[in-house]
Amino acid sequence: MLAGAAGAAALTVALPAGVASAASLGSVPRGPLPFPFTLGVASGDPFPDGMVLWTRLAPQPLAEDGMGGMPARPVEVEWELAADERFGRVERRGVATAAPESAHSVHVELAGLPTGREYFYRFRAEGHISPVGRTRTAPNPNAMGPALTMCFASCSNWTAGFFTAYGALAADEPELVLHLGDYQYEGTGGANAVRPVAGPETATLAGYRQRHAQYKTDPDLQAAHAVAPWLVVWDDHELDNNWADEVPQDPGKQPREQFLARRAAAFQAYYENMPLRRSSVPRGIDMQLFRRISWGRLATFHMMDTRQYRSDQACGDGGRVDCAPRLDPARSLTGAEQEAWLLDGFRRSQSRWDVLGQQVFFAQRDLDPAGPQRFSMDAWDGYVGSRDRITRGWVDAGVRNPVVLTGDVHVHWANELKLDYADPTGPTVGTELVCTSVTSGGDGTDSTPEQDAVVAANPHIRFRNGKRGYVRTRFTGGELRADFRVVDAVRTPGAPVSTKASFVVADREPGLNPA
Ligand code: FE
Ligand code: CA
Repeated sequence: MLAGAAGAAALTVALPAGVASAASLGSVPRGPLPFPFTLGVASGDPFPDGMVLWTRLAPQPLAEDGMGGMPARPVEVEWELAADERFGRVERRGVATAAPESAHSVHVELAGLPTGREYFYRFRAEGHISPVGRTRTAPNPNAMGPALTMCFASCSNWTAGFFTAYGALAADEPELVLHLGDYQYEGTGGANAVRPVAGPETATLAGYRQRHAQYKTDPDLQAAHAVAPWLVVWDDHELDNNWADEVPQDPGKQPREQFLARRAAAFQAYYENMPLRRSSVPRGIDMQLFRRISWGRLATFHMMDTRQYRSDQACGDGGRVDCAPRLDPARSLTGAEQEAWLLDGFRRSQSRWDVLGQQVFFAQRDLDPAGPQRFSMDAWDGYVGSRDRITRGWVDAGVRNPVVLTGDVHVHWANELKLDYADPTGPTVGTELVCTSVTSGGDGTDSTPEQDAVVAANPHIRFRNGKRGYVRTRFTGGELRADFRVVDAVRTPGAPVSTKASFVVADREPGLNPA
């Protein structure tokens, strides 16, 4: 690697400086650095001319202080981007600094590359070479471009089982991956953990860093990151269950100042461990995560953050109820700024498919038609005015094919979206695909009579399945195809993966057709 004279010279100059600063710190480990690429590699946020390349150095990923067993000194990391997997045609190379204050993570933000190209990348630090990742630039923004295979997933709880779904997703070799949140969980799973996690419930920067590092050691997750660039957004568990803006699920247990410090720590560790652009570097308790990624004229991905700006939970901490505040138009799931940004994006869009990559169940979902526990207040059902404004926004803007993608609920669903859910005969104005969890909830079951009754009570819901898995999509100018992939079991490794159901959405015809 880096046989070129310039690269080799940079390395030989850099190393003595690093050694010298390490020696001056006295107590740091001496001698050669053990293999530091235990967390794999990743890439993300592809633009037409570049993307982010990511890695993090951690020879001891489970180190309790969250520093991955790294010495407390900056380390130079060389990177290479090539047109071929064997790095015979290296097109870009450079050196980045992995610094202790960002847990020795590396974010290389590239620009100026040609559109619609596949690339391979790797890193080297102190004589060690990383695994190879594959990435790409987004297609020419002014052309429809080729078909896109995109997989999306959510809710990967280490303690609930094995990440077989991530391995299957990698085997599909998508060009793009969306992660819709609950990438990791703050809890420990207690005595029921299929796979134990190191450390207590995450609440400190060290704890979140350690937890992220442990997750990244999973070979299936590493394969999924290495196969394609990701677009990530968080949900609640990257911080704490069912949090809303500056309020934890149970304010009685976490004083405000304590929760805000926890939020800042979780955001910092999230940024460090995800292939995000500099625009997402956290500032205190804030982090810019909603953003727009275009895939030629074929698709626009509006990646949303429905946690950081939402109105407080009402009528209980996200539980299932039927209460008046859910209809209060002043309540918002997005915040005013993000809502305006989204509606503006609808008006400007010239895409064949406009995809909302977001967290929580969008369609109305009446869970208990005859009883008191009708609606999840943690989802859009708890923020009906917010949902109405966004649905009306894409209808009024004439968005050609609106598609909402959702995670959070640990069940596959496919829904037809309505302006008025009280009128099942009214027009369908969009389509929602909800991915089940990667592991959360354990092995799962296809369905039960009670769950079948929920589907029957919601005529716009066309499909439901309670196994684990992910969703594979294929976008063309004429249709969107969705394959609901399921894993037989997650409590044991290596279980078979299959397609439970497939649907097609035709251009200009929102709604679901069996494929
Ligand atoms: Fe979850
Ligand atoms: Ca969640």
